[in-house]
Amino acid sequence: MDRPLLNRRLAEFGTTIFAEMSALAVRTGSINLGQGFPDADGPEEVREAAVRALRDGRGNQYPPGPGIPELRTAVTAHQERFYGHLGLSYDPDTEVLVTAGATEAIAASLLALVEPGDEVIALEPYYDSYAACIAMAGGQRVPVTLRAQPESGSYRLDLDELRDAVTDDTRLILLNTPHNPTGTVLSREELAEIARLACERNLLVITDEVYEHLVFEGEHLPLASFPGMRERTLTISSAGKTFSFTGWKVGWVTAPPELIAAVRSAKQFLTYVSAGPFQYAVAEALALPDSYFTGLRDDLRAKRDVLSAGLAGAGFQVFRPTGTYFITTDIRPLGAVLSKEGDGFAFCRALPERAGVVAIPNAVFYDHKDQGAPFVRFAFCKSVDVLEEAAGRLKALADTP
Ligand code: PMP
Ligand code: GLN
Repeated sequence: MDRPLLNRRLAEFGTTIFAEMSALAVRTGSINLGQGFPDADGPEEVREAAVRALRDGRGNQYPPGPGIPELRTAVTAHQERFYGHLGLSYDPDTEVLVTAGATEAIAASLLALVEPGDEVIALEPYYDSYAACIAMAGGQRVPVTLRAQPESGSYRLDLDELRDAVTDDTRLILLNTPHNPTGTVLSREELAEIARLACERNLLVITDEVYEHLVFEGEHLPLASFPGMRERTLTISSAGKTFSFTGWKVGWVTAPPELIAAVRSAKQFLTYVSAGPFQYAVAEALALPDSYFTGLRDDLRAKRDVLSAGLAGAGFQVFRPTGTYFITTDIRPLGAVLSKEGDGFAFCRALPERAGVVAIPNAVFYDHKDQGAPFVRFAFCKSVDVLEEAAGRLKALADTP
């Protein structure tokens, strides 16, 4: 057995950074601002809906492959409610597929649509499962780097770079807005340009919009609503982030029937189905009044402001997110010693012991590791007390002579 056990396609993907850092948080008893999960569960009535489904025997046996009709209908009603004014609507029977979280939706979409050798463009830094799933599908990932703009504390997509990245082998663009880990929300102009490019070059687009309800300034614009895009776009979302039940793993894809049929072919051999009773609960969650969605956003906006101020006060340069529940920081202003020479990996591995806080090094989300080296991500989906305590610990670290 001189051959490595893990196959060549997955050799570079050992353990996810989230698992590594959450284990470190448990081992050291640190505040975990690494892995993005809320420290409070979502609405009680949604939890109760899951309990009711379990007790009533709904979903305890295999649900239908595409998802229960109640959830598919709830997904389309949600699209209509929030994006109907942009002309976006879907048919619950042929244009929705329920998946095991957005993670399976991403995996199944790539496995269904990518031939070995096809190029897949993804915005770098990219969510870690993108790289692994492109590899599993035998595709070639082509990163287009979102550039940090220290002056404005934001990130910018270079549209010329994106245009130049498209070749005759490009099969699809894998987009994510609001963007994890940078908190960037692509603008109307950027999305319009991406749409133009996709149409011009006849590309498919998978757009990961799991943070659709976490936009703090402006509004979320689904890429599928742009001219020429509905027919070529697969839109992915999930209940994890919107309803604060990340452990339920209920996600969905909306797309035209041919694309849904293709993704379903891959999905049926991954999990076939999942989360039966939770699907009933998420159907009810999607019908919560508008005030739930705005309340979630307003609450997280306030938490963003608390943690941004705390991190800035501790000496980090803060890239102020306009969406998601993550803040990216540059550690270099902390100085060479404290910032471990600007090495985000070394910084994050040492931080739990030094300060009792866990964060994620953004370099894991880059092919161009040098571009991501000094950036570190903190999650703010935690109670204000926890965020203030974490900020205090970081400030104490910074103040250590
Ligand atoms: N995409 C992005 C951008 C994410 O941040 C996450 C983590 N929630 C996922 C996909 C995975 O979502 P889920 O937990 O629903 O599988
Ligand atoms: N999406 C979460 C994050 O970015 C983590 C999900 C996971 O652990 N795979 O932090």
